[in-house]
Amino acid sequence: MVSYKELGLVNTREMFAKAIKGGYAIPAFNFNNMEQLQAIIKAAAETKSPVILQVSKGARNYANQTLLRYMAQGAVEYAKELGWEHPQICLHLDHGDSFELCKSCVDFGFSSVMIDASSLPYEENIALTKKVVDYAHQFDVTVEAELGVLAGVEDEVSSAVSHYTKPEEVVDFATRTGCDSLAISIGTSHGAYKFTPEQCTRDPKTGKLVPPPLAFDVLDAIMEQLPGFPIVLHGSSSVPQEYVDMINKYGGKLPDAVGIPEEQLRKASKSAVCKINIDSDSRLAFTAAVRKVFAEKPGEFDPRKYCGPARDLMEELYKHKIINVLGSDGKA
Ligand SMILES: [Zn+2]
Repeated sequence: MVSYKELGLVNTREMFAKAIKGGYAIPAFNFNNMEQLQAIIKAAAETKSPVILQVSKGARNYANQTLLRYMAQGAVEYAKELGWEHPQICLHLDHGDSFELCKSCVDFGFSSVMIDASSLPYEENIALTKKVVDYAHQFDVTVEAELGVLAGVEDEVSSAVSHYTKPEEVVDFATRTGCDSLAISIGTSHGAYKFTPEQCTRDPKTGKLVPPPLAFDVLDAIMEQLPGFPIVLHGSSSVPQEYVDMINKYGGKLPDAVGIPEEQLRKASKSAVCKINIDSDSRLAFTAAVRKVFAEKPGEFDPRKYCGPARDLMEELYKHKIINVLGSDGKA
């Protein structure tokens, strides 16, 4: 058993309380490798933004959970070295799908876990979520739960259609589970293809796809039911056109990739939405930078020469999100 407190990490409780009061959102960035982690920590340290490092079940399998724990511990020390005296860094399990996985993360130094039982029937979702909360809270680890179903694909999580969260269920769910935050479905979606072209309209000038707006009426109804309760948005990448264009220009093939417009996320950040998950955008930045190097310098075979530019582009992306979209800069 390793306590996250020994690793210098923090849970989400205070972060979220401050974010709701202050009208901003905490970035939750997924990481799978060293370059991504460096870029996240550098961006957070330089903008003094609290940050949630997210690890999915897939990332845990890819990078090894022991290594991930020490990477998170290393991230705290790295942040201090960058001049961030009291780093506000949370290590969070993204989309935990069983009690055993969540328990293992709690025991391994995570400061926060998500139990995603949203695909189960309502009562089973409550029972499993409560079991995780009861275990995690013994160690002051915070728990995110999910109600409603997001469309899209992310690692092992996938659904063809979305079902909006039902506002009439949230009070019962939050009360009976004791969860610390709630991921809701209001039209965000996992992956780089958040909407089919049929769900979008086309901008007559540019020919680009314009996605349907988020269901802010559902968010408002949820906030009315649960005043001041931390709300989480998954699947909130914007799929920046510049990265998609770069990827396609240098030999990639991502036709009609589309995300959530940043002005909608800006609006959400000012509400009780206090955690916004961004994964696909950094995957796109990484891929765009690597493809550019490969296309321009076919003789390059030193991984530092293509992972380095990928790291720089991701750092720029993270800073942009922190400063221009979530408003969490200067809050840690
Ligand atoms: Zn998600």
